[in-house]
Amino acid sequence: MNLHLDNRELDTCVGCGLCLPHCPTYRVTGEEARSPRGRIAAMKAVQWEDAEVTPEFVSMMETCVQCRGCEPACPSGVPYGHLQEGVRATLARQGRITPRWQRAAFSVLPRHRLLVVGSTFLAVAQRLHLVPRRFGLARLPLRRPPRVRSTGTDAWLFTGCVMDAWSRGTHHSTAKVLHHLGITYSVPGKGAGCCGALHVHAGLADAARRLAAGVMAGMPGSAPIIVNSAGCGAALKDYGHLLGTPEAEAFSGRVLDVHEFVGARAQRLHPRRRLGPVIVQDPCHLRHVQRAHTSVRTLLSMVADVVELDDDGLCCGAGGAYSALQPGLAGDILDLKLASVGRAGGGVVASANPGCAMHLAAAGLAVRHPMDLLAEAL
Ligand code: SF4
Ligand code: SF4
Repeated sequence: MNLHLDNRELDTCVGCGLCLPHCPTYRVTGEEARSPRGRIAAMKAVQWEDAEVTPEFVSMMETCVQCRGCEPACPSGVPYGHLQEGVRATLARQGRITPRWQRAAFSVLPRHRLLVVGSTFLAVAQRLHLVPRRFGLARLPLRRPPRVRSTGTDAWLFTGCVMDAWSRGTHHSTAKVLHHLGITYSVPGKGAGCCGALHVHAGLADAARRLAAGVMAGMPGSAPIIVNSAGCGAALKDYGHLLGTPEAEAFSGRVLDVHEFVGARAQRLHPRRRLGPVIVQDPCHLRHVQRAHTSVRTLLSMVADVVELDDDGLCCGAGGAYSALQPGLAGDILDLKLASVGRAGGGVVASANPGCAMHLAAAGLAVRHPMDLLAEAL
């Protein structure tokens, strides 16, 4: 069966296995079928040798966290993320993955008012102990501050959907840091609220393209686009690939993770106090995809004693909706992260992605966004 994968990309895997220790699902199962090499071999068998798409093949793909920890470890430069997204798009079109309830839930993300109201109901349900713990949700806010307002045109501040509904305080922290730097920003209006990252992960490529077009239309011009959610930033930077147009390529070229943007201006920051030890957790989409994780350290080291984890950036198991869809594996992967945090001495954990922050906070860790810590120290 044609999975509609790029044959040259598929052919780059030479089967060396150097990626295996960096794959969280291989680490917790020890199974070749839950490794990047095993998954790519299965893709090749289906696309090139007409092997059947069995339930096991679907499971191999669905159990991938899409953390892309295998990419920086690969000496052949296999674009694993693109391959996995391509497989999922084909499987989703055929109705083999991403059930209707999931598609319905994702359709709420671009409807911001509905998302905010729904999040408040969910927060109330949590207080009434009606949300199962296996959903891995940390305590959602019952109230949130007003939305951040535009202050000028130096840059765009992308506020997103879940990030704005669940972690709006971090937008205010980001606004404070930008104000400290003398940078004004515009907030995109309606139609540019959801980047489509979760849709891409779920194989809903057409929906993701529609959302990407809305985001691009909402932030015209040439000003840089600042993003404080690692998953959203990675998605915006990949619009060139998703849409395949020069306009999308140019748009992606304007996108910067907030730590890259602020880190390049770090000499203009004047913190007033230090915060003590902070453990840095690298969201996969910041470290493995955007490769922008060193900027987090540049900034945090100005205000705190940075403590490194010893797991070489291994995924925490959040993976967007993965922790809800694959709770068993997500829990096993989380246990590895918790053990690493324990070896680091515990304490405050800095994470620059709302999904990771939720996943870790639900496990009882004290998690803060680096922008919240920086804003507090300024
Ligand atoms: S994306 Fe992550 S979970 Fe999937 S194969 Fe690569 S390392 Fe393993
Ligand atoms: S993905 Fe890269 S590292 Fe992993 S087996 Fe293939 S060539 Fe080797």
